[in-house]
Parts: sequence; C-alpha cells; structure tokens
Amino acid sequence: MVCFGEFVNFAPHYFQFMFDHIQLQKVGKLLSQPKNIALVSHKNPDGDTISAALAMMHYLRKKGHSISMLIPNQYPDFYSWMPGCEEFIIFDKNAALVREKVANADIIFCLDFNRMSRTGNVAPDLIKATAVKIVIDHHLEPSEEFDYYFTYVDTSSTGELVYEFIEAMGDKNLIDKDIALALYTAIMTDTGSFSYSCDHPRTFQITSELIDKGVEPSLMHKLVYDTFTESRLRLLGFAISERMMVWRDLHAAVIYLDRKDLDRFDYRVGDTEGVVNYPLSMAGVNLSVLLSEKDKVIRMSFRSKGKFNVNELAAAHFEGGGHKNASGGTSALTMIETIGKLKEVVQQYKEDLDYKISI
Ligand code: 5GP
Ligand code: MN
Repeated sequence: MVCFGEFVNFAPHYFQFMFDHIQLQKVGKLLSQPKNIALVSHKNPDGDTISAALAMMHYLRKKGHSISMLIPNQYPDFYSWMPGCEEFIIFDKNAALVREKVANADIIFCLDFNRMSRTGNVAPDLIKATAVKIVIDHHLEPSEEFDYYFTYVDTSSTGELVYEFIEAMGDKNLIDKDIALALYTAIMTDTGSFSYSCDHPRTFQITSELIDKGVEPSLMHKLVYDTFTESRLRLLGFAISERMMVWRDLHAAVIYLDRKDLDRFDYRVGDTEGVVNYPLSMAGVNLSVLLSEKDKVIRMSFRSKGKFNVNELAAAHFEGGGHKNASGGTSALTMIETIGKLKEVVQQYKEDLDYKISI
C-alpha cells in the first residue's frame, strides 16, 4: 500500500490516491448545474457528522445549489454555536419534512456513515429515494447502497475527506471561515483533540490551512469542551468513582450508567460523550467500554488504545461497528445481563488484550 510519506514526494494532491478520478469527474459534472441537495448525518450525531454536513452546506451553497440539512435525532448542545446548526431538520421532531426533502432531492450526500441503517428511522426513505446517493466517509467496509464513493479509512475524520473533496473539485479557494470552523471541529472532535487517528502529516497540513482561514484552536477547544453543565461534570465524577469496574487481568475497564443514574444527573444528549475515554488513561487498560441505558436499550461505546480492534468485537457480538479504536453497538439485554455477556466476550479476547504500549 502507498503510504502518506511516500506519496508526498510524488504528487501534490492527496485526493488523487484517496478517490477514484472517474467518480470525481462524474460528480463534478453533476454539481456543475444547480441541484436540490440533501445532506444527511448519522444517528446520535457526533462532531464529525454535523461538521462535515455544515462544511458541505456552506460550500455547495456557494456553488449555487439548494441545500437541506437532515439529521435523525438531536445533536448535543455544545455544537449549537456552529454557524448553520439551526438549519438541521430533525427527523425525531419533523419526520414529514425530512421525508419530503429526501423524496425531492436530486442528490443525497451521506456524511460520516457507511450504511443507511446508521441513520435509524431515516434509512427506509433514503433507500427508497431516487436521488443520486454519494457517500463521503472514513468507516470500514461501506455498503453497496450508494452510487458514488468518496471513502477512505486511513484518515482522521470525514471532515478531512470533505476538505479533500472540495480540493478535488478544484474549489479550495471557496473555503472560507465558516467552512474552516466546521472542518476544524470535525478533525478536532474525531481525533479527541489530536490525541488519536492523527498520525499523518496531512491532517496537520489541512489543520494549518484552516487556521490560516481564521480558526482559533484554543477558542474551538473551549467552545466544544469547556461547556459542561454542573450536572454533566458530576455525572462524570460519579461514573468514574461509583460505576467503573476494572478487569485488570483482562486489561479492560467498564463504566455502566443505568436510566436511574442518568436521571439523577439530569441527563441531556451529549452528557456521556467522552466518558468512555477516561478508563484508557490508566496504564495497563487497553479496552474501555461504556454501557448506558438509552431509548430502552443499552448503548455501548468501545474504545481501545494500541492494536486491539474494537470494531471486530462490536460487530461480532453487539450489532455494532465503527473504527479499530472507537466503535459503538447496542444490547437488548438488561444492564446486568449485558455486563455478564460483555465479560464472557472480553475473556475470549484476553490474549489479544495483553500488550504494552511502547515506542
Ligand atoms: P460512539 O461510541 O462515540 O457512539 O461511536 C464510536 C464510533 O463507532 C463512531 O465512529 C460511530 O460512527 C461508530 N458507531 C457508533 N455506534 C454504532 C453502531 O451502532 N453501529 C455501527 N456500525 N457503528 C457505530
Ligand atoms: Mn467520523
């Protein structure tokens, strides 16, 4: 495989080996006339899917297209400062309008997900839609539900791929401060503030260009991460002190929060984001799992550090997936049953989890 280090010496444009040039040409042609375009984010939206959609919205409007922003459920409040966020039409609140926009779209861009089922209740309409479906995404193994694929796994985020896409379209000059703010947020949030999935120089080259467009990294960090409510911070403290089990012999730790725990701390969408990362800060813990009771199922978040592949575990045992070091899944069992099943599953991976982080 060509690696970034080698490539940089041969060609100036990264998109040339990330994306298929025939698909780029065809999509470029499609976008050369004004179109009705729907931009779709995935369920339980994170910073990457929201920001990728916002960046595409600002960009495609500059190209003269009509845009609608569609999202399955509410995004966390700590993203609401982003220019354009108020334009999201939320399926949970306005299903009819989302359906109408999907049905009337000429083109649907699917951002930060690899299969339609990741959009929850929006999926049946997306599958039925007659629009040209284009995916821009960095998850493993995209499904065959799309017409054009701008997917690449070995990158920080979908936001980074949106940058490459805009450059591939010959439109780098259209990247303004609003687009830069969105792309920076995508990269910052999907790399945990530049702590994982950010080992390629390209991520930092792009980041540096975004800063040139007026992004202030220290401000961005404050806007996204320093906006906790008191109850969210207390929930984090409670989760670590009262609800964390460390399975030291398995190199794993689990935090579980049931409905009562979440209610006690006045849970709001986004309040558990980041909680799963804390157990990994312990030396010797290579796998962390957060179990939280939401919408009558147990939502599962998996994180690993180093070589252990949580995508495989989540897909094989908990109807989920994602990336090698960050995946999600669900369990229809009770909390206690889920913990029991999880322990059995993790025991099967005991040897794979037994490694030290070293240079
Ligand atoms: P999180 O734990 O933050 O919800 O999700 C971590 C990663 O796993 C994200 O990249 C997300 O897209 C992916 N992911 C989360 N939940 C699911 C799921 O239920 N199925 C699949 N395939 N991926 C998921
Ligand atoms: Mn992402």
